[in-house]
Amino acid sequence: MRKKIVAGNWKMNLGLAEGCQLVQDVLAGMPTLSAERQVLFAPSLLHLTQIQALVQGKEFVRVAAQNCHQEKRGAYTGEVSAEMLHSAGIPVVILGHSERREYNAESDAILAQKLDAARGADLDIIFCCGEPLSVRDAGSQNAFVESQIRAALFHLEASAWSRIALAYEPIWAIGTGRTASSAQAQEMHAHIRNVLASQYGTTLAERVPILYGGSCKPSNAAELFACPDVDGGLIGGASLQAADFLGIIQAMVAAK
Ligand code: PEP
Repeated sequence: MRKKIVAGNWKMNLGLAEGCQLVQDVLAGMPTLSAERQVLFAPSLLHLTQIQALVQGKEFVRVAAQNCHQEKRGAYTGEVSAEMLHSAGIPVVILGHSERREYNAESDAILAQKLDAARGADLDIIFCCGEPLSVRDAGSQNAFVESQIRAALFHLEASAWSRIALAYEPIWAIGTGRTASSAQAQEMHAHIRNVLASQYGTTLAERVPILYGGSCKPSNAAELFACPDVDGGLIGGASLQAADFLGIIQAMVAAK
């Protein structure tokens, strides 16, 4: 069975006490998870180790960093390396989020280097892709997302993919309240899987979790997660409220 994941991307939200309270509230209502049904919290870098301590020993619940630098060390003020995350016990990193691509000029080439750094530091990776509205309106979303994946990920050998999940996040749906329809999500996820299969074969492509992100909430999660190629979600706004995040987790656990 392919793994399903719900990951909460807190972005630059929540103070330490609020974040700890949120995690405790989510853990208190957490349904039974498994190796195939996992939950991630991605708080700010500053709070990662404290949140990590709260989920320690909770099976199938982990923390993720929202970014890492591509270099191992050096004069990069304000940055954190993949090795530093690993040395602090952080097991997962999110790479390629559209906000980092836009506000931090993260190109596909830089993201390819970040992937290598994360792999070198033994981190699991959630890699984001997705098109802006102009591309969707022009009907070129499939080619756009395919080129993001090819440019950043196709230098990897097949074995690397056991540690990678993809997240399809149409930029026009992030934080806008406008969700991709389940048909739009399924179409793109199937396309992404075909792109993976063309490079690595069907067996590998069938194993890679592909999460959906973009205004996912308890009210639409079940329909999105019922799509055969949607393997959970990367959740922004709705991960900041325990009840909403739990609703989405429950939808993931209930999905076939
Ligand atoms: C995100 O930024 O990863 C995201 C999916 O945000 P939201 O759920 O708020 O649209």
